[in-house]
Amino acid sequence: SDGLPIIHHSGYTCDLPPNHRFPMGKFPRVLHFLIKDQVVSEKQVWVPQTASERLLGCVHTEEYLSSFIGGRINEREQRRTGFPWGTVLAAEVALWRGLACSTAGGTHHAFPSYGSGFCLLNDLAVAAKHVTSSSERKVLIVDLDVHQGDGTAFIFKEEPRVFTFSVHCGKNFPVRKQQSDLDVSVDEGQEDEQYLSTAHLPWLLDTFRPDLVLYDAGVDPHRDDELGRLRLTDRLYDRDLYVMKTALRRGVPVAAVIGGGYSKDLDKLAVRHSIVHRAATQ
Ligand SMILES: [Zn+2]
Repeated sequence: SDGLPIIHHSGYTCDLPPNHRFPMGKFPRVLHFLIKDQVVSEKQVWVPQTASERLLGCVHTEEYLSSFIGGRINEREQRRTGFPWGTVLAAEVALWRGLACSTAGGTHHAFPSYGSGFCLLNDLAVAAKHVTSSSERKVLIVDLDVHQGDGTAFIFKEEPRVFTFSVHCGKNFPVRKQQSDLDVSVDEGQEDEQYLSTAHLPWLLDTFRPDLVLYDAGVDPHRDDELGRLRLTDRLYDRDLYVMKTALRRGVPVAAVIGGGYSKDLDKLAVRHSIVHRAATQ
């Protein structure tokens, strides 16, 4: 179908009360607002298949994965933490079509053998491995979630074909940071002007020359976010547009995931998460 491909896992259901604090009830609401506001139509929605254990095994240890299959981490929890298959499909569709956005993803705190910070499996890492394992492709991960992508940085610290770039608030989770290929630590309370004026992306794209950008468009740098500690506004739209334009102008496809965002008001949060899809349609 025509238009921006939107990747949405049909397993995400509204099974939580709207005021529930658990952050994962937001996924179905992101799609709800995209359709309601006519940003996309239902014809643009792609539904991923469940990832195989072999694919997940590119990143995660056998022991850790078997604890899922043995049911020690229950299925409802699995579903709510945003599983990797949507991001894998977004990456595939982006390579084919140039741009694709998921309504979930960005579970960047998961390590090979354990989960952390609301993340059980690392979707960005699984998608990057998937794209690079069977070819000579290179992937640039642009992680603008307010928290450092520590799991992703750890997983790819010795992988030259995946470049990890993380912009995060230094005084925020995780306390113990990993080393990304490029880390930009931002001070608490930073506002739009200063945040938007730093541009590492052009030279990164021109020197690393990736075949795909995996973009974590976390909205937790927003001033109304409960965990973020920065003071950005809805000009996150400018940020997202900038990232996608800068890559696409160089002919580099982009697969975007929504990343972190925390608010008691899930509808406000879902609309905030849909900023990246709105920017993508431009
Ligand atoms: Zn975050």
